[in-house]
Amino acid sequence: MSTEAYRRLDRDHHLHPFTDFKALGEEGSRIVTHAEGVYIHDSEGNRILDAMAGLWCVNLGYGREELVEAATVQLRELPYYNNFFKSTHPPAVKLAEALCRLAPAHMNRVFFTGSGSEANDTVLRMVRRYWALEGKPDKQWVIARENAYHGSTVAGLSLGGMAPMHAQGGPLVPKIAHVRQPYWFDEGRDTSPEAFGRECAAALEAKILELGEENVAAFIAEPVQGAGGAIIPPQSYWPAVKEVLARYDILLVMDEVICGFGRLGEWFGSLHYDLKPDLMPIAKGLSSGYLPIGGVLVGDRVADTLIERGGEFFHGFTYSGHPACAAVALKNLELMQAEGIVERVRDDIGPYLAERWATLADHSLVGEVRSLGLIGALELIDPDTGERFDKGLAVGTLCRDICFDLGLVMRSVGDTMIISPPLVISRAEIDELVRLAGAALDETARRLG
Ligand code: PLP
Repeated sequence: MSTEAYRRLDRDHHLHPFTDFKALGEEGSRIVTHAEGVYIHDSEGNRILDAMAGLWCVNLGYGREELVEAATVQLRELPYYNNFFKSTHPPAVKLAEALCRLAPAHMNRVFFTGSGSEANDTVLRMVRRYWALEGKPDKQWVIARENAYHGSTVAGLSLGGMAPMHAQGGPLVPKIAHVRQPYWFDEGRDTSPEAFGRECAAALEAKILELGEENVAAFIAEPVQGAGGAIIPPQSYWPAVKEVLARYDILLVMDEVICGFGRLGEWFGSLHYDLKPDLMPIAKGLSSGYLPIGGVLVGDRVADTLIERGGEFFHGFTYSGHPACAAVALKNLELMQAEGIVERVRDDIGPYLAERWATLADHSLVGEVRSLGLIGALELIDPDTGERFDKGLAVGTLCRDICFDLGLVMRSVGDTMIISPPLVISRAEIDELVRLAGAALDETARRLG
């Protein structure tokens, strides 16, 4: 089929996620046809360096035959069976064991889901159920952060703190509150990063006191906020938050959907920040995005109560631990271990990206450059004022579109440009990424006149 034919059918029948349907119908979509390594190809013959690993998920890169083989073998053997009631199957059992071996030592159980959003729905059910079983049924409030993304189901939307999403979501799940995010560049530049990190932790404490500690069940956050803008918190933030949560006996939920599986140079972002979460929702990099699978890793404190006192947990998804998805995830973890992917991010390619990425700080449009492991951001500013551009100019979107035209996928969140490339990216490919990003910045500056 021609590109035009695809575009026509797409416009007429396909409603895309996070898309202005009408505008896309007018502009036409990009038809991605195949991919290998860190590159995607479109129907017009363009080869594009995917510095977002799809949606932060293709950690092992495209075209890994071993993952295709794992899916094929499993689909032949047992394409589907569920884990409800008293059944299970080998891939789910093996994956559960493998995950718990990689997770922090106190996490020995996993509940499978089909996605990160479903994982966060599961989290909400689990934390409220936990406190009810502990004889503290009033502990129902969950505190999350402004500008957080935790998924698109109603629970994910409610836990998330994205104002435009809330505005469209109708009534949200009750008893979810939001506190400020540790986004120093946008919200804290009048003070030092370290003081700002402590201020954010103090805001969390103030919210707990406002709601009443006896009413607060959990705090949920990502180690590094991904979709909000690759927001790396100041060093003071997590130690201070940890202290606050311990003081009031509030569960910690670390959303590892993006940070898990090597993105920050550890198996989980929580390990990078020396955190001991009670629950960790996971997805994306678990299967390198080859098949959809997510889950919640559950720490012993919560698991013991749910197991010993909970009776039947009335919750689950048809595709919880789907055999083919589990088999691919298991193979993905095996390959990551065999190839030392996590260590490579921590000791080699992460530091290399940091060094090369930092060279963009000299560009007149760039107000800040940051990265950790293989996640990074550039903050775009107006060189004349040193402040943000007028929102109406949509400079981030302009820069993103220029990137695409030059052969680079870089995402924009407002005027923050983000990268999160496959963890297998080579040094030469990082050089290319940085060169294309620099060229895109030049072209953006030129078009702004
Ligand atoms: N949590 C975080 C931190 C995410 O970034 C995402 C997706 O981007 C989700 C949850 C939702 O995952 P999914 O899209 O698989 O439902």
